[in-house]
This record gives sequence, structure tokens and C-alpha cells, in this order.
Amino acid sequence: MTENIQTTFPEINIKKDALLSQYTFTHTGGPADWLAFPKNVDEMKQLVTYAKEQQLPITVLGNASNLIVKDGGIAGLVLILTAMKDISVSDSTVTADAGAAYIEVTKVARDHSLSGIEFAAGIPGSVGGAVFMNAGAYGGETRNVISKATVMDRDGNIFELNNQELDFGYRHSAVQDQNLIVLSADFGLIPGDYETIKAQMDDLNARRAAKQPLDLPSCGSVFKRPEGYFAGKLIHDAGLQGYTSGGAQVSKKHAGFIVNINNGTATDYLNVIHHVQQVVKEKFGVELETEVRIIGRDK
Ligand SMILES: Cc1cc2nc3c(=O)[nH]c(=O)nc-3n(C[C@H](O)[C@H](O)[C@H](O)COP(=O)(O)OP(=O)(O)OC[C@H]3O[C@@H](n4cnc5c(N)ncnc54)[C@H](O)[C@@H]3O)c2cc1C
Repeated sequence: MTENIQTTFPEINIKKDALLSQYTFTHTGGPADWLAFPKNVDEMKQLVTYAKEQQLPITVLGNASNLIVKDGGIAGLVLILTAMKDISVSDSTVTADAGAAYIEVTKVARDHSLSGIEFAAGIPGSVGGAVFMNAGAYGGETRNVISKATVMDRDGNIFELNNQELDFGYRHSAVQDQNLIVLSADFGLIPGDYETIKAQMDDLNARRAAKQPLDLPSCGSVFKRPEGYFAGKLIHDAGLQGYTSGGAQVSKKHAGFIVNINNGTATDYLNVIHHVQQVVKEKFGVELETEVRIIGRDK
């Protein structure tokens, strides 16, 4: 029934049985039945409406920097939004498409001497992923700077949600609860001084490079910060740094990261995650909950 999705939408880049490990930051993950790269909202709407009619499940990805896609891949249609990446500036508002890199948004803001979003200078996700996750770093969070998001529901309806309606929490937003697709976001910033903004961004990036294993594939911090603790410190204190399963390893540089050191699979990642959760629970009685999203089917 869905065999003709490529011929139905000849103008959209759609691949069949496309290996997602080519796109994920961990370099792991099996194939998507169908993988499409919509270029604009109109193409998104066509695909979402078609998928609904065909009862084809849809999974939306941005930069795939906060994901473990299981080795069996993802059923149905996967949309990667990185071709929707326009960024524009009007007064002190920066508007960015969902697929724009968050890092690019911070550079555009800096180049227009707009302050407030410096914290995101090194967050490697897309704008859509940042809204979905309420991404944050160094005391800043997406919720502090976003004025509204334009979203689509799974019927193809498009509407706006303001900051309050986005219902942000720690690594949480209404986008998760309502199963919405982020199309774009407006960031309300404040005029500042270019050199000061640049210095702040450079400093945060230097601190990141000093602490994080940026030379190896990873998905950032794997676990949420448990109430009253730091996940990285618990993992370090449990003696788990360097723990390896297959090609996935608890980073020796930053205990909160799991790096792909040698063609690791999603199964290797999941084995390391489960081991870390088990040992930390045994030693400290703390349940580590994953921040990284684990999606897809088993092999
Ligand atoms: C080296 C490294 C450092 C990192 N540092 C930080 C950090 O400091 N702070 C931080 O918060 N995170 C950090 N991350 C994690 C990650 O970059 C963020 O969570 C980011 O917001 C995820 O965006 P993404 O586009 O990569 O999302 P993806 O990984 O593609 O997707 C994550 C989730 O968001 C959903 N999603 C993505 N786009 C959309 C959309 N348009 N509409 C609806 N749902 C969508 C996906 O379905 C998925 O459930 C880091 C990751 C790495 C690899």
C-alpha cells in the first residue's frame, strides 16, 4: 500500500530501508522503512496527511544528537528535518525553522548583537529537538528564550504555542505530551554587545571541549540529573568510567557520556546503560533515568 510513497512524492527526497546509523550522533541504529527529508512546511503537511491516511507511523528527527535508535531500525516513515533550516532576524527576535542547527541560531544572534541564547552555543541539536527537550546548558534553558513555537499535529493542523503553553520542565515540553511536530520557533532576545556575547560563547565552548569527549561519537549526557545528585559523579564514584560492552564505553573523560569507541551498536549502548543503572542503584540507591530518547524496534 505504501510501496509507492516515492512515486507519490517525486519532488521529496525519500529513501527506502535507509540506515539511520548514517545520521545519528552515536553512529548506531538500524534502517528506517522510509526516510524523507521535507524541505518546507507544505511538504511536511503532505507527508503527515499521507501517513495518516495510510496508517503509517511517523517519527520526526532533528540532528539525532539525543537519540539511540535500536538496531532493528524504525517502522514506518522517519522524517529528518535538517533541510528546513532558515533563520531570520526581525528587531530582537530570531525566527528559526525546526531543522536549523541550534548552534547556527546562536551564531546569528551573536552576529546581530543579540544576547540571551549564548548558553546554547555548543548544543549540537536542531531547533525542533531543543524545543522538544527544553535543551539547556550552563544555567540557561530553551524556555528562557523562546517566545513561541509553530507546531503541527498528526492530522496536519498547524498552530502556535506560546511559552506558557509549551509547558516547559526539566528536559520536558508540551510537544512531548501532545505528540506535536515543531515547525519553527521564535526566540525573544535582548540587544547586547557583540564582543561580550562572543566572549561568553567562546568561553562556554572551551569549557565544553575541556570536559566532554567531543572527539568521539556520543549522544551527550545519557542520564537526567537525579534530584540531589549529579549523574556523572555517581557513575564516576561507582568506578564505572571505562566500562565497555562491545564498542560502547562509559567515557573516561566525562562519566555522563557513553562513547562509541569501536563500531558499537545500539545494543552495546543499551547494555552499558542497563549496567550503569544497575550498579548505581546497588551502590547508592539512586535510579538513573535516561535523558537520551531510546526509540525503534529490536533486531
Ligand atoms: C556532544 C553532545 C553535547 C550535548 N550537550 C547538550 C547540552 O549541553 N544540553 C542539552 O540539553 N543537550 C545536549 N545534548 C543533547 C542534544 O543535543 C539535545 O537534546 C538537542 O536538543 C536534541 O536535538 P536534536 O535535533 O538532535 O534531536 P533528536 O536527537 O533528533 O531528537 C530528540 C527527540 O526530539 C524529537 N524531535 C526532534 N525534532 C523534533 C521536531 N521538529 N518536532 C518534534 N519532535 C522533535 C525526536 O523525535 C526525539 O524524541 C548534547 C548532545 C551531544 C551529542
